Amino acid sequence: MRVLGIESSCDETGVAVFDVEAGLLGHCVHSQIDLHATYGGVVPELASRDHIRRLPALVRQVLAESGCSLAQIDAIAYTAGPGLAGALLVGASYAEALGMSLGVPVLPVHHLEGHLLSPLLSADPPEFPFVALLVSGGHTQLMQVTGVGEYVLLGESLDDAAGEAFDKTAKLIGLGYPGGPQLARLAERGHPGRFRLPRPMLKSGDLDFSFSGLKTAVLNVVSGPEWKPEDAADLAADFQDAAVDVLCAKALKALELTGLSRLVVAGGVGANRQLRQRLDVATRRKGWRVYYPEPELCTDNGAMIAFAGARRLAAGEVPGMACAVKVHPRWPLAALRAPGAA
Ligand code: ATP
Ligand code: MG
Ligand code: FE
Repeated sequence: MRVLGIESSCDETGVAVFDVEAGLLGHCVHSQIDLHATYGGVVPELASRDHIRRLPALVRQVLAESGCSLAQIDAIAYTAGPGLAGALLVGASYAEALGMSLGVPVLPVHHLEGHLLSPLLSADPPEFPFVALLVSGGHTQLMQVTGVGEYVLLGESLDDAAGEAFDKTAKLIGLGYPGGPQLARLAERGHPGRFRLPRPMLKSGDLDFSFSGLKTAVLNVVSGPEWKPEDAADLAADFQDAAVDVLCAKALKALELTGLSRLVVAGGVGANRQLRQRLDVATRRKGWRVYYPEPELCTDNGAMIAFAGARRLAAGEVPGMACAVKVHPRWPLAALRAPGAA
């Protein structure tokens, strides 16, 4: 079975073909970074229009790279939420229309389920059950995962997401858009320990997070009288250290509380080198294991959507019959049900 995956929830257009036997045949992502850079953030209307422009050509390109014709596609999976309503509608209507013309099933996929299952696409995939640390631009959540669609929320950010905190802090330090990866690169040249930044909710006793106070602490440093731009690398290192401290501590606590021994990290911040190093060391010490997606599949892509759709179809999920273009801009992951469940 071959599934065409379409991702258009925010500012990346992602397309992929996943074959249940042969694995990922091809995938391609077009990022709209240049389009939104002058505005310092994603402009929803521009995002929708660009998805419309890019999707048909990307689908043709990925099919060609996959050595696969449209007639060989058995199903289509698309991101139905959460995300920007207009951007989601582009992917949803494209997928539903293409599915109708090909006469193949079309499956709406939860964007975060895509992120969460993406480590299963790697050469050494984790088995269920596991704890998932979802760290993306819009979400920071710990989930107990016992199977596809079996997710129990253990804790989440009460304000900013981890990726959002990286991006906003980067902006405060004067880095370009989007700043998260740039901030991480700058932090590698800096030395942590100069600026006393808080570790919000580190000792809260639960599995929730908070990042807005950390961002405010950075704002106080850069607007203070002693701030010198040449100290940016050290401040970036201190910010990254604080964020990683909290993410690691809570992820380990989640493993302890659930009694599970496998941790899966997914979402854009999962590409962070320091986070990976710290989790690798801490889990090894306890005899636990941590799994990540391939670095290029940490941020938004069509491969994770094709894969999540394929897993659901393989598990017996029956897509709705009528061509219903419906998206869910807000959609809690724990609201999902296992394929075939009532
Ligand atoms: P969501 O998936 O919650 O809807 P999103 O799709 O915007 O949000 P992702 O594409 O998963 O988020 O990830 C993008 C985020 O990851 C951005 O906030 C970006 O700054 C952050 N990010 C990417 N690489 C790194 C890195 N190396 N270190 C820290 N943050 C990073
Ligand atoms: Mg993005
Ligand atoms: Fe995402």
